[in-house]
Amino acid sequence: MSNKKNVYHTSIYKEPGPKLDKDSPFESMMERFRFAAEILELDEGLFKYLANPVKQVIVSIPVIMDNGKLEVFEGYRVIHDNVLGPSKGGIRYTPDVHIEEIKALAAWMTWKCAVVNVPFGGAKGGVRCNPKELSIGELERLTRRYTANLLEVFGPDRDIPAPDMNTNEQVMAWIMDTYSMNSLRTETAVVTGKPIILGGSQGRKEATGRGLVTVVLAGLSKLGLMPNKVTVAVQGFGNVGSVSADLMYEQGASVIAISDISGGYYNQKGIDIPAAIQYLRNNDMSLSGFPGAEPITNEELLQLNCDVLIPAAKEDQISKSSADKIKAKIIAEGANGPVTANADTILEQKGIMVIPDILANAGGVTVSYFEWVQDRQGYFWTEERVNRRLNRMMRNAFDNVYGVSEKYKITLRQAAYVYAINRVATTLKLRGIYA
Ligand code: GLU
Repeated sequence: MSNKKNVYHTSIYKEPGPKLDKDSPFESMMERFRFAAEILELDEGLFKYLANPVKQVIVSIPVIMDNGKLEVFEGYRVIHDNVLGPSKGGIRYTPDVHIEEIKALAAWMTWKCAVVNVPFGGAKGGVRCNPKELSIGELERLTRRYTANLLEVFGPDRDIPAPDMNTNEQVMAWIMDTYSMNSLRTETAVVTGKPIILGGSQGRKEATGRGLVTVVLAGLSKLGLMPNKVTVAVQGFGNVGSVSADLMYEQGASVIAISDISGGYYNQKGIDIPAAIQYLRNNDMSLSGFPGAEPITNEELLQLNCDVLIPAAKEDQISKSSADKIKAKIIAEGANGPVTANADTILEQKGIMVIPDILANAGGVTVSYFEWVQDRQGYFWTEERVNRRLNRMMRNAFDNVYGVSEKYKITLRQAAYVYAINRVATTLKLRGIYA
């Protein structure tokens, strides 16, 4: 590293926009981006390029509600970049989503795709709505109109959406159908995370949890720990949390705590995870009243004496104030941004290995890439092949990031950003700027 310090700032991100909290997902992302840029001595122009999304679209989505009234929702799609290939990223339906959050998450997708070496740029979308209050018909009309408004943005070679918070296979099927109807042909590769019968991939649903466990196992082996001797706590029991817990259980680990929005469940002797998953299915997808453990709060779960902590619920769970109380040896970020930038330093001082979100939860987008490849070939792989390739890509990504962390003596998070930004910046330099 040279002593000459570049000052990385951009007018769009640093000046007029809303004043953002240092703990916000966006500032957390930028903080880490700036750090990696410094290590790489990234050219200031390239920094500016990569700090600004290439496209930000805000659409109004009129929907005739079931009661006959017209309601208008706001929807977003941000393409952070398409340097490595068409942009890729999920769509979330949440009541408080806003463009700043989508901008951060779109950039996050760029780094995520680059870390696992899939040929995609980054994007993210969202609609400000409360899907719990919408009927299935309202949800379908909202999804179709959102898609119709973005026909010029989406496309198998342009921008490929996927599920994210509160969106699922059915929503992806509506996106695929709306896009196909408008292009007068069936276009499965325009969206990933579809039902298997409709061009989805085997293993896509479990991919994020499966990929996470691959990197946790790699991390454990670096620390000289055997998977069947460790204790694990998992925050969140959705797609990512439940699959991670189940696969760690299969590895012989003792999963001592799990949680969902109904609270945490703790059993020092280890929870029977298949029984918890069965309970969830029989209980309206809630762990509420789960008998195999005693109740604890989500906060207590994070502070448990365990070897592996998997925050797989939502962002901002471990902040400056709580980081000091974490006792785990490895934190693997199942969710996007569960550890704030302010908490990073404290965890580093405590010697905790944090496997960052852009690596730990990249299994989802990796199998999305497999789905896109299969759709374009019209040839579908077995689950075994999907899992084997996923495992290989995640393992390679871990080793690459680990190598960078050793080279520069930096954390895995910093290394993941350095690796990803270097890859995108190198490609961008080769492509050059079109003028
Ligand atoms: N929404 C997921 C993520 O944050 C998946 C994105 C994708 O598969 O394109 O990684």
